[in-house]
Amino acid sequence: MLRNVHIARKGQVIGKYPEADMPVLVAAGTVLRTDHYWKVGMPRWLVVGRTFDPAAPEPEKPSRPRGPQDLGPRFTCLRCEARFDEPEEEKPGNVVMEILCWLCGPVAGGLYSGSRILGKTQHCPKCGSQHLDEQVW
Ligand SMILES: [Zn+2]
Repeated sequence: MLRNVHIARKGQVIGKYPEADMPVLVAAGTVLRTDHYWKVGMPRWLVVGRTFDPAAPEPEKPSRPRGPQDLGPRFTCLRCEARFDEPEEEKPGNVVMEILCWLCGPVAGGLYSGSRILGKTQHCPKCGSQHLDEQVW
């Protein structure tokens, strides 16, 4: 089966090539060792040079199969390195106060709900750390 490898440079996808051609493309300089690559089934983008540089081979970690449109989890926890699609969210204040504000009127309710949405924080679902790295595809 022909598998294409997607190549990204400085956050921009610059093309896709057959995986079998990668060593040649790297040797020719078409694809740089510092570029990132991704193919179907990989949980995230990796540096080209770590896999396709013959001088520094590093075996890929096995990953569960994913759909062709699925680019993998967007968030990486910087503390425990867990990867996930959606972080846990926590809003300031509480629902009881929010309901009371809405009972006072739409202005008070809107202000309270707005402040909760603006003040919400995102956590790692595994360790609770707020230090998350978000990938933008
Ligand atoms: Zn974590």
